[in-house]
Amino acid sequence: MKLVFATNNQHKMNELKRMLDEKIELVGLKEIGCVEEIPENQDTLEGNASEKSHYIFDRYQEACFADDTGLEIEALDNEPGVYSARYAGEEKDAESNMKKVLLKMAKIKNRKARFRTVISLILDDQQEILFEGVVEGKILEEKHGDEGFGYDPIFQPDGYEESFAEMSMEEKNKISHRGRAVRKLVEYLNQLNV
Ligand code: IMP
Repeated sequence: MKLVFATNNQHKMNELKRMLDEKIELVGLKEIGCVEEIPENQDTLEGNASEKSHYIFDRYQEACFADDTGLEIEALDNEPGVYSARYAGEEKDAESNMKKVLLKMAKIKNRKARFRTVISLILDDQQEILFEGVVEGKILEEKHGDEGFGYDPIFQPDGYEESFAEMSMEEKNKISHRGRAVRKLVEYLNQLNV
């Protein structure tokens, strides 16, 4: 069975390929001839993941899935949430995004935050299935570590003394939002009779 992952992120692609059963042939956007930017105009993670998977299914008639992730900070009414990538501007700069968060959180005691990933899967035109992965944690007072990407240096998952940016990729994947959502997706796909 052929399955399109609606992403241009090669890292995400490789990660998934390693986890999926051989009966599923995972392909990227270029391989189906999709080179245009896929719209992400919704105001929820669910909405964006869904918009992306529907965009591909409607135009290419291929089974597919798409993901969307956000950092939700309790004291900031779940900001930056769906705007995580461009919180400090359209340049999508991780340093500026973290700076903005640290500034807004400067005098705030409640540091609770979570990363949330939503995956939308469309296998045929009858149904869409959503998978969610969450990791709870807190926003640190300053940056720690330089592994990973995005907000990793300022996020510490509950039960750990290190930030995401101080963990190896394997360690982070075991507990991360995306790791959890992806494992749910993989479990579902691997038990399909295709
Ligand atoms: P995307 O939906 O995977 O593109 O994620 C949107 C934005 O959320 C990214 O541009 C990052 O700013 C942030 N983000 C997503 N996943 C992570 C993560 O694992 N660590 C840190 N930041 C992340």
